Amino acid sequence: MDKERLKEEIVKTGIKLIKNDLTYLSFGNISARFNDIILITPTGIDFENLKPEDIVEMDFKGNVLNDKRPSIEYRMHLEIYKLRPDVNAIIHFHPIYATVLANCNMELEPILEEHKIFLGNRNIKVARYEKPGSLELAKVAAYNLGEANAVLLERHGAVCVGKNLDFAFKACMVLEREAKIFIITKLLKNEYVDLIREYRERIYGLK
Ligand code: ZN
Repeated sequence: MDKERLKEEIVKTGIKLIKNDLTYLSFGNISARFNDIILITPTGIDFENLKPEDIVEMDFKGNVLNDKRPSIEYRMHLEIYKLRPDVNAIIHFHPIYATVLANCNMELEPILEEHKIFLGNRNIKVARYEKPGSLELAKVAAYNLGEANAVLLERHGAVCVGKNLDFAFKACMVLEREAKIFIITKLLKNEYVDLIREYRERIYGLK
């Protein structure tokens, strides 16, 4: 795939994030590895208004190669690419349910079969809060990502990675859907257990 085509793919991925309610406005950022540079979304443009010519070109030292301003989270992307040579695309987004899990410091266990396919056969870890845009956040996110394809960011959102943009986007879909299923299951399960306990006490006089 050539560079211009890859920029178009980044723009399309942003629209898909919005359409699937995985993030909103301009919150989040998308990048792709292209030979020895990365292509990354700019700062402050809503995904719905983003154009291929807005995409920033950057080298792996963080130098901008065209006249654009990159997302403030570019360090997080660079750290992940450095640690994971198998990763060619990174999506940072602000999903609801995955962020709730991060806030509760709860790892996401593999529940669905698709977790193993898209997120890796391992728990998705939580990176504790660091200031958005900071090198500390970049490091804690890359560290907690480990060998998985996703990491949860406390009071912030999540990051998914993949061999290409299509895979990374599907990982976002799976992560948020599974986080929702996990949370609802946990709530209902607790309620069910409480109900059983109540019956036991009321009907059978058991404690
Ligand atoms: Zn963010």
